[in-house]
Amino acid sequence: MRICFATNNKKKLEEIKSWLGPEWEVLSLEAIGCQEELPETGETLEANSAQKAVYVWEHYGIPCFADDTGLEVEALGGEPGVYSARYAGDHRSNEDNMQLLLQKLQWQQNRAARFRTVLTYISEKGQHQFEGEVRGTIIEKARGERGFGYDPLFVPDGHNRTFAEMPLEEKNTMSHRARAMKKLVDFLKQNTN
Ligand code: IMP
Repeated sequence: MRICFATNNKKKLEEIKSWLGPEWEVLSLEAIGCQEELPETGETLEANSAQKAVYVWEHYGIPCFADDTGLEVEALGGEPGVYSARYAGDHRSNEDNMQLLLQKLQWQQNRAARFRTVLTYISEKGQHQFEGEVRGTIIEKARGERGFGYDPLFVPDGHNRTFAEMPLEEKNTMSHRARAMKKLVDFLKQNTN
């Protein structure tokens, strides 16, 4: 069974391949010959992941799924959310994004946040969305060297290390993306043969 994951991120591709097993051929955007930038102009994670999956389905005719992730901070009304990648501006770094977040939370007691991933899968049978989340706390000073994005500031509930202080295998046992991916994998295994 061939399926496209609308990404060129090798780590994400390897991860899903390991969960789906060898009977699935998971193709990247590059592998299907898609070189253009996918549309991502929505105002929600749901809208953006759907936009990307629908684009691939309509232009390349291959069953496809796409993901979109955001960090949602309670005291900031869900910011940075869908704007997580470009919170401090279009060409700013992870470091700039984290600094802006810390600045906005400077006088805040409520540090609750969650990472949320939405996956959209589309095929000739229609469109389905799957969500995964992990709740935690934004600490006051970055800790850890691993991971990416906001990992050095995020301590998942029930733990005392940040995502950036955990080995990837440990983060993957509880992460928003892993949880959403597992729901998709279960769906695919049950609904295709
Ligand atoms: P994407 O939808 O996976 O590209 O994620 C959008 C943005 O959310 C990234 O650029 C990061 O800033 C942030 N993000 C997504 N996943 C994670 C994560 O696992 N840890 C930390 N930050 C993340």
